[in-house]
Amino acid sequence: MRIDLLTLFPEMCETVMAESIIGRARKKGALQVCCHQIRDFAFDKHSRVDDTLFGGGMGMLLMAEPIAACMDDLIEHLGRKPHSIYMSPQGSVLNQEKVKELAQYENLMILCGHYEGVDERVLEAYIDEQISIGDYVLTGGELPALALADAVSRMIPGVLSDDICFEEESHFDGLLEYPQYTRPANWRGREVPGLLLTGHHANIARWRHEQSLLRTAKWRPDLLETANLTEKDRQFLEKMRGI
Ligand code: SAM
Repeated sequence: MRIDLLTLFPEMCETVMAESIIGRARKKGALQVCCHQIRDFAFDKHSRVDDTLFGGGMGMLLMAEPIAACMDDLIEHLGRKPHSIYMSPQGSVLNQEKVKELAQYENLMILCGHYEGVDERVLEAYIDEQISIGDYVLTGGELPALALADAVSRMIPGVLSDDICFEEESHFDGLLEYPQYTRPANWRGREVPGLLLTGHHANIARWRHEQSLLRTAKWRPDLLETANLTEKDRQFLEKMRGI
C-alpha cells in the first residue's frame, strides 16, 4: 500500500511515520508513505496557502488552488486518482471496521486541514470521504491523519511482525482484548492469574475469551450490541450478570 499525506507540516508527519513498527515496515518495503508540502503548490510569491472567509468571520481557511495543484501533481505521478480522504471533525467517526475497509485500497490520499479548515469546493472536487477521529476539535489534521495512517498500515501484510496478531486485539472482532501480563509472575505482591502459567492452551484461550467478554460488558457494553456473539457467549454473560 501507498499512503500520501497532504499537509502544511510534512516533517511532523515524516518524523512520526519513520519510527518503530511503521518505520521498519517502510524500510523493508512493506509500505510506502509520502508526505507532501501543500505550500510548495502556492501560486503567489509569498507562498500563501490561506485566506480570510467570504461572508466574514474569525480565522483563515486553506485555499482550494494550492491543495488542488498538490493533488493534481500526485494524481499525475501515480497515473490515477487514489481514494481520497479529508480528516475532519465533521466526518464519520473512525472505527476498526473502517480501518479494515481502507486497508483494501492500494493507494490512499489523506488531506490534513488547518486553521478553520479547507475551502468546501476542493473537497467537493476531490474528496471521496471525510473521517473524524472523535467528537472534539484539534488544531490540524496531522494527528488525525497519522492515527488513521498508523491504524491502516498495521493491517497491511508484512507491516506487523509475525508474533503480533491483530486479529486478537481490541475491536477486531467487536470485543475488547483480554488482560495481559508479562514477567515477573509476582509484581509487588500482585500475582499473574495462575491459569496463564499452566501451559494449557485450550484453557488459556477459553479464559482469555471470557475475559474479553467480561471486559467489554463492563467498559464498553455498547459494543456487545453489534459484536458477533455465539449462543455460548450470551449464556456466559447472562450467567456472570447473575453473580
Ligand atoms: N472549522 C472546522 C469545523 O468546525 O468543523 C474545524 C477546523 S479544525 C480547527 C482544523 C483542521 O483540523 C480540520 O480541517 C481537520 O483537518 C483537523 N481536525 C480537527 N479535529 C479533527 C477531528 N476530530 N478529526 C479529524 N480531523 C480533525
